[in-house]
Amino acid sequence: MEYRRLGKSGLKVSALSFGAWVTFGNQLDVDQALAIMAAAYDRGCNFFDNAEVYARGRAETIMGEALQKSGWRRDSYMVSSKVFGGAIDNPSPIQRGLSRKHIYEAAYQAIERLQCDYLDLYFCHRPDPDVPIEEVVRAMTELIYRGDVLYWGTSEWSAQEIMEAYAIARQYNLIPPTMEQPQYNMFVRYRFENEYARLYHHDTVGMGTTIWSPLASGLLTGKYNDGIPEDSRMNLPGYEWLKDLLMSEEGRARLAKVKELATIAEGLNTSMPKLAIAWCLKNQNVSTVITGASKASQVVENFEAIDLIDQLTDDVMETIEGILDNKRDRLVDAS
Ligand code: NDP
Repeated sequence: MEYRRLGKSGLKVSALSFGAWVTFGNQLDVDQALAIMAAAYDRGCNFFDNAEVYARGRAETIMGEALQKSGWRRDSYMVSSKVFGGAIDNPSPIQRGLSRKHIYEAAYQAIERLQCDYLDLYFCHRPDPDVPIEEVVRAMTELIYRGDVLYWGTSEWSAQEIMEAYAIARQYNLIPPTMEQPQYNMFVRYRFENEYARLYHHDTVGMGTTIWSPLASGLLTGKYNDGIPEDSRMNLPGYEWLKDLLMSEEGRARLAKVKELATIAEGLNTSMPKLAIAWCLKNQNVSTVITGASKASQVVENFEAIDLIDQLTDDVMETIEGILDNKRDRLVDAS
């Protein structure tokens, strides 16, 4: 495993980490979740990602029970939560969003569900236009001073919103966000590579990144090349929107590219999941790639991507670029 600094913070996060979206609470029970987390942990993963909204709190409950069962030392891994969507069905206006009240309550509820004494990383899952950014920065700073959160960050905030949070923190001597959690993969890249470009410099914001959906929900594995497998994410009830995306003109164009990319994977004697994950890792502005998996065997395969980075030479990257042809594509499809 390779460990990368989370932006300019002193924290070293494993370049490959593991998240609970979709799988925990929908596809996996506690024992299955633990088996998958163990496959990641045994390969050097030190960060497990979660959010209050995943399976409305159940994903955190399952991860908490799995961590209890694991017997792993608390100082050997990091857990996160994300606040915004609420942990119950139909949350009232004070049970969701980024008010100081909900930021506090979501943190303490996540700590309880995850059965950990503090959150290593705590994210604002989306920007909240109804809450002044100063209120968010103050609430996050207070949680850090109380020892309940170690680092705070954002997810899918614009560069301008992140800069505003940073400037407010500097103006009032508060703690600025350390990391952002954006989508980044071969198909969704504009914001990460362009909009955020100035935020990575260590002499300014020095933003770390925990990127999500490196396989575009599985599309980049090639598993959808010949239809939708029975036991796949796109076949799950509640995720019909993913199937619709696949069937759209854009989805079909992406599928055609995956088929072309598969020849590159073949030429490198590797698999599509490994190629797609290594492509993300190749970008040094990525602090960690949050992977997802419904089976331990997927973790085993995906974590081998680390060994492929060196094979992605300039020539290979250029050939991939020729197929993707989307370097300036502004399309962002945030889940
Ligand atoms: P991916 O795009 O990597 O998709 C993971 C899914 O792809 C798996 O659950 C599995 O689904 C399939 N898969 C993975 N590896 C393989 C393989 N080797 N072979 C075949 N199929 C494979 O990541 P996720 O979309 O799951 O995102 C990762 C994490 O990022 C989440 O768990 C969450 O923590 C975070 N996230 C954050 C968001 C945010 O807004 N901040 C939004 C979304 C995710 P299956 O087997 O069921 O087909």
